Amino acid sequence: ANQTGMADQITKNPHAIFIPLPLQGHLIPSVHLAVKLASKGFTITFINTESVHHSITNSSSSSNLFEEACKSGLDIRYATVSDGLPVEFDRSLNHDQFMECLFHVFSAHVDKLVGSLVKDDPSIGCLIADSFCVWPLMISKKYKLVNISFWTEPALVLNLYHHLDLLKKNGHYDPLDKFDDAIDYIPGVGSGSIKPTDLMSYLQATNTNTILHRIIHKALFQNTKSADIIICNTIQELEPYTISTLNQTQPFYAIGPIFPNDFTKELVSTSLWCELDCTRWLDNKPPGSVLYVSFGSYAHTSKHVLEEIACGLLQSEVSFVWVLRPDLVSSTDTNALPVGFEDQVKDQGLIVPWCNQKAVISHQSVGGFLTHCGWNSILESIWCGVPMICLPLLTDQFTNRKLVVDDWKIGINLCEKNLVDREEVTKKVKELMMQEKSNELRTEVKKVKRTLQDALATGGSSHRNLDHFVSQVILKTN
Ligand code: UDP
Repeated sequence: ANQTGMADQITKNPHAIFIPLPLQGHLIPSVHLAVKLASKGFTITFINTESVHHSITNSSSSSNLFEEACKSGLDIRYATVSDGLPVEFDRSLNHDQFMECLFHVFSAHVDKLVGSLVKDDPSIGCLIADSFCVWPLMISKKYKLVNISFWTEPALVLNLYHHLDLLKKNGHYDPLDKFDDAIDYIPGVGSGSIKPTDLMSYLQATNTNTILHRIIHKALFQNTKSADIIICNTIQELEPYTISTLNQTQPFYAIGPIFPNDFTKELVSTSLWCELDCTRWLDNKPPGSVLYVSFGSYAHTSKHVLEEIACGLLQSEVSFVWVLRPDLVSSTDTNALPVGFEDQVKDQGLIVPWCNQKAVISHQSVGGFLTHCGWNSILESIWCGVPMICLPLLTDQFTNRKLVVDDWKIGINLCEKNLVDREEVTKKVKELMMQEKSNELRTEVKKVKRTLQDALATGGSSHRNLDHFVSQVILKTN
């Protein structure tokens, strides 16, 4: 007892169950966030699906993913859960079936596992789940856990999803009546208005009755809106107006960019596929001379688009590293490249199925990034001071493109209306890599890079927001 006779109040550090969405682009920031929170004193029980666990352990040498992190003193426990499909099931080829399982079956497995974890360890006080999961509200209520939603995309995207009702009322979503006029009635859009073609692809769809739409409705309309706290991989200074609008209805913390402490060296393996090493090839190229080309882990495109990009790259004579995922073209045709392309490319390009993107993009030879505008890729590109050519393909990538090209001016569009043409590819690659526009973009991207660095530095906005978030969780779980 203390001298005043009051009972000692021992503040417990929070113990959180952390469940990412089992997709590469969601898993990466989730793992890094889990490590960050553990280094702030959290105990984390991190849960991967068996399929994700299988892929990571197959592509890296480690079988115990968090072993190194635990050796460095962090309290991260680990468990796996079935997503409802056999481990060897091809989730990319049978995408809708995978999504159906995530919607209907996964929640029952999560429910059972969380139930037994909570029963065995009463110190568990909160659930951190990816905002695209459909079950956090049900699980957190059932087990009396603080419900923390992790939003891995820009705040603007969440803000737009949260205003589906306004979009619908104004004919910009199902049915798309006034498809061409600017959307200027949604609160929190930084530039005041947004074009319908900059909305996320699901909001532009003519068929809004797909499994993905059902997931979005349930996850973002019901779940995320009722979360106790939302944490987001963005930066206050980049989206101030959107963030303050979101903050009016819910505690919303911008704590990005969420990267490992050492940008190129990860404490925990996160890659679902084997990474091909590009360093030796890059070492032989002059500084800033190489274009990095990647469309992320999830999007697909057509053989025609791929052919136009291939020929455009070749004509540009600019050196490139191209990540060509085997499933990028969603057809059974495994060789999507034009006949003879690889022979023609010679030393101009290196084509790999998957690489360590952070290592490639931070290499001094890389001077530009032709990207699908996945949010992680954008943050990584900015962090390395690399300007972008944008070819959005799916989901939030259209909205992310608007931020990069129209708002922050650190990238250019590959083509109007997404009609990819080889001449345009050549023109834009040259513009990005060597013409006057290149210098302008580089100057701007350096400024935004500085914003990211300042946000993470001691006293910076993300640093402060993370501390504030941690103290809120401590309050709510004690
Ligand atoms: N990535 C990688 N190697 C590759 C391609 C991508 O490590 O060959 C990583 C990349 O660094 C990023 C993530 O995969 O962190 C992709 O996430 P993003 O949000 O850019 O796109 P998504 O895959 O979700 O569409």
